[in-house]
Amino acid sequence: MTAPVRVRFAPSPTGRLHIGGARTAIYNWAFARANHGTFILRIDDTDPTRSTEENTQIILRAMRWLGLDWDEGPEVGGPCGPYAQTERADLYREAAERLLAEGKAYPCFCTSEQLEADRKAAKERKDPFQGYQRRCRNIPVDEARARMEAGEPYVLRIKVPEDRGDVVIDDAVHGQVTFDAKELDDFVIVRSDGTPTYNFATVVDDAAMGITHVIRGDDHLSNTPRQVMVYEALGAPTPTFAHISMILGTDGKKLSKRHGATSVEEYRDAGYLSDAFVNYLSLLGWSLDGETTIIPRDVLASQFSLERISKNPATFDPKKLDWMNAEYLNAMSDAEFADKVLAPELEEAGLVDNADHLPMAEMLLLAQIVKPRVKKLGEVAGVCGMIFKTADTLEYDEKAVKKGLAKEGMASVLDAARATLDALAADDWNAAAIDAALEPLPEELDLKKRVVFQAVRAAVCGNLVSPPLGETMELIGKADCLARIDRAKTMAL
Ligand code: GLU
Repeated sequence: MTAPVRVRFAPSPTGRLHIGGARTAIYNWAFARANHGTFILRIDDTDPTRSTEENTQIILRAMRWLGLDWDEGPEVGGPCGPYAQTERADLYREAAERLLAEGKAYPCFCTSEQLEADRKAAKERKDPFQGYQRRCRNIPVDEARARMEAGEPYVLRIKVPEDRGDVVIDDAVHGQVTFDAKELDDFVIVRSDGTPTYNFATVVDDAAMGITHVIRGDDHLSNTPRQVMVYEALGAPTPTFAHISMILGTDGKKLSKRHGATSVEEYRDAGYLSDAFVNYLSLLGWSLDGETTIIPRDVLASQFSLERISKNPATFDPKKLDWMNAEYLNAMSDAEFADKVLAPELEEAGLVDNADHLPMAEMLLLAQIVKPRVKKLGEVAGVCGMIFKTADTLEYDEKAVKKGLAKEGMASVLDAARATLDALAADDWNAAAIDAALEPLPEELDLKKRVVFQAVRAAVCGNLVSPPLGETMELIGKADCLARIDRAKTMAL
């Protein structure tokens, strides 16, 4: 029986959670869920100059917004804690001491001048091996101990076994990747200030946490042979690696700030739904069956597999994300849209104090007309804000005035519309009745339908692009519709 899956997402809090990191997190989470495994969140904060607590908090918030719940990690704890590398210094020290005692690591006293001179000499003699020249590798143990104890500065280096040979990784995405033995360096595992290097701390943690699969960006592929050396020195089993491809912008270049928003919270603030965002990112390098694009979270969490990760770089296309978001919005029922989208957006935009006070029937009608017209949450207020204004506070946009009102004959159109609408009983004020009442007007006035409805729309909505007129007017209410028409008449010719 194979060991239960344990995976980790290990962001460095040197910045926000970006699209690439979010996708790595999603893949780890989905892989854990699909295999009934454990998803661990670990904060790789060993770079004290660039890691901040604020960034850690931003990352945790982003993870929560994405809905990627972790089974072990900050705030939830777990049997392998602590889950921040700065709190695990003792473990790295113990591991380093053990390797030293076992002769699998050794102190190196070379000064940076010495190292530089060796590097230069290796280059000049065109030595195929340009790494550390192993000067301190054969210092007798007693002598090395004495120098360490005397306070001479040193780093700890791993001792790559003489006969190690090439390192071959069976990567779940890239297949077999071979790293030439000649390139294996006795690299530094503990710096002179006692702090562990990334390749060492990561492996000590991954081994201690029983990580079975390391799923991460392929910018880390080149670190992998070094990490394999550490696993072997520690006598720990090497996990399965899955290095996922880069994400490119639509111009084929590596995704960066130039392509617009890159951090998760920018997308949250721009009005994307977490489900849609997760769905979209999950497809950047993975597919369910090569064609399905709408993949609900539970399907992702049950069907995700490493086999279907692609080697090729993925393209982040904001237009496709918009499309996906609109699909998710449209798939909501009116009640769900009212509750999850309308209410918070109307409150956020200051259009209503408390959306709970709006009658349910109105919210459902509003949901019905707004839902198909927005791609992002932030667009809600723009589409229906005018409904919540009054005849006094409504703003008329220039185009609406020019095209819909300030034209010869429009004053009489408004008069006719007003009279027709006024004749409707207040009880009868609903979309169907309003539409039916306005319907014969163009013929009666001998004008084009478009001209008449444009004038009424401009008068009542203050713009020319609002949702269907009957429903919009039903929501505005009879008295205010008439008052709006009165106000618009002052602008009509
Ligand atoms: N802290 C590393 C990073 O953010 C983690 C790399 C890894 O997954 O090993 O890139």
